[in-house]
Amino acid sequence: MMIETDVLVVGGSLVGLSAATFLAWHGVPTLSVERHHGTAIHPRAGHFHLRTLEVFRSVGLEARVRAASEQQFDPDCGINAVESLAGREIATYIANLNEGVAAISPSTRLFMTQQSLEPLIRERAEELGAAMRYAIELTSFEQDADGVTGFIRNVLTGESDTVRAKYMIAADGNRSPIRSQLGIGTRGPGHLADCVTIYFHAQCGSALRGRNLGVIYVFNPELRGFFRLVRSGDSGFLAVMTRGDMSRPDALKVAEGIDQEAAIAFVRAAIGMPDVNVAIGDIATWRAVAEVAELFSEGRVFLVGDAAHVMPPMGGFGGNTGVQDTHNLAWKLALVLKGVGSPDLLATYDIERQPVGELAMQQAYARYVLRVVPERGKEGMQPIVDDLSMEIGYGYRSPAIISETGNEAPVHGDPRRSKGLPGTRAPHVVLERAGKPISTLDLFNGNFCLLAGPEGGAWCAAAPAAAAKLGLALDPHRIDQGELQDPQQVFAEAYGISASGAVLVRPDGFVAWRAADGSGASEATMHKVLASLLCRSAT
Ligand SMILES: Cc1cc2nc3c(=O)[nH]c(=O)nc-3n(C[C@H](O)[C@H](O)[C@H](O)COP(=O)(O)OP(=O)(O)OC[C@H]3O[C@@H](n4cnc5c(N)ncnc54)[C@H](O)[C@@H]3O)c2cc1C
Repeated sequence: MMIETDVLVVGGSLVGLSAATFLAWHGVPTLSVERHHGTAIHPRAGHFHLRTLEVFRSVGLEARVRAASEQQFDPDCGINAVESLAGREIATYIANLNEGVAAISPSTRLFMTQQSLEPLIRERAEELGAAMRYAIELTSFEQDADGVTGFIRNVLTGESDTVRAKYMIAADGNRSPIRSQLGIGTRGPGHLADCVTIYFHAQCGSALRGRNLGVIYVFNPELRGFFRLVRSGDSGFLAVMTRGDMSRPDALKVAEGIDQEAAIAFVRAAIGMPDVNVAIGDIATWRAVAEVAELFSEGRVFLVGDAAHVMPPMGGFGGNTGVQDTHNLAWKLALVLKGVGSPDLLATYDIERQPVGELAMQQAYARYVLRVVPERGKEGMQPIVDDLSMEIGYGYRSPAIISETGNEAPVHGDPRRSKGLPGTRAPHVVLERAGKPISTLDLFNGNFCLLAGPEGGAWCAAAPAAAAKLGLALDPHRIDQGELQDPQQVFAEAYGISASGAVLVRPDGFVAWRAADGSGASEATMHKVLASLLCRSAT
């Protein structure tokens, strides 16, 4: 049987599910295939960043994710390091996950287990119309000038089918057979350690001593790794990344010969209670690797998530970066499939996301060295970039951004200082609509959005007319002159424009272009700007 769809998504884990959700939100027909029978059964990702919550918010997913998170974790947990849970504290990396966040985002960070998050993303993707098929694997694929042909097989019945799609997304994890078939290489520090994650129950809640912690790094002579415990402290997982003295030849080979007895010993040593009863639920082995793909796309195939970049879990960058990959790609695919964007727009996915993936991998590696294996030394290690800059301060430079001369978006920077610079995330400003507060981020509803100052009427008139001629949907807003009010008078300053200026925000919430004032405001200017951003010739 031949199944036709616009986008075939291979992999139905955290990142594949996010791809399906964002595509479906943009109205793109998709089919996802996942080899497993359902969503994740083991917690891995647990720390979800500000930008992930912001993009989930934009597709109506934030509230249900938050509700589920609050059943498991306190909203404002911290991250610290201890010799053992019952023992001495070594460091506090983050005292309160959400300190200072209210001024810069309508969302907050949270902790949540991956196996409770994935069904929520799947539910939203299906509500939006995405098709999901489980126990189905992609066995091979071919691409040509018009599309991709995927050969799929039911892993239970062995029955085969063919999928014909215009594009394919590889969300097939760090070993990505699709990446291998494309011949795309990787670079980075490479394989670091063979680790284990031990899922357990133990009466160790008392050792938490009321501390409110989402991640607890453990650093002692028996092991180095980290805990993620549920609120009571009596269950969760311990990831073990080293064992014993670092001079042992097998210090980084924790997975080798791991059994129940060794797992119980690790858990007891990490808790610091040698006699505590420990019940092991499961033991998962995994490889800590730091690598990024040299290219994130080839022809009609796009790599996202761990297929594009794999990194140690320190900082929680892996899954979050993958979610952002798909958010960057979805609107581009939607516009190209509608014939509004030129196919060249798709090349900006690699141009924009590869450097961000590389940065995340390098920063995760730096945190791994500093927090887990300082013996590796700092040679070749990037200096630490603070978490906020990593989460919402990364910038893009590509043909889908019109940079200002001499003022291009940095690869990373303090988001509180970006002030609407093209290539950076559009800042959160609290405005009022019908007397109620509304964040600027809630105005980005999947279309290009023009935000003009109170005297920016000329831009507001020109933009929709120019967009209509290009077949593009665009939402114009003239602050203080329509339904949106700016009682604190902060919008123009926050976006780096004067009262007659305007800012154009892309469907992914990044600033594409801005005019400091009203000079040059015309339909012709807007047409040129929009055509350029869509990678179409301006004529
Ligand atoms: C201990 C630990 C803690 C972590 N903590 C965090 C954290 O706090 N925050 C964070 O953001 N990240 C964290 N990570 C990383 C995060 O778990 C991964 O980055 C994320 O799960 C990657 O998702 P993915 O969908 O790209 O890949 P995967 O989760 O690997 O999923 C790939 C999917 O593709 C399927 N698949 C593969 N090939 C095929 C095929 N041919 N046909 C059909 N299906 C196929 C697989 O079955 C699999 O379900 C952690 C990782 C570990 C190990």
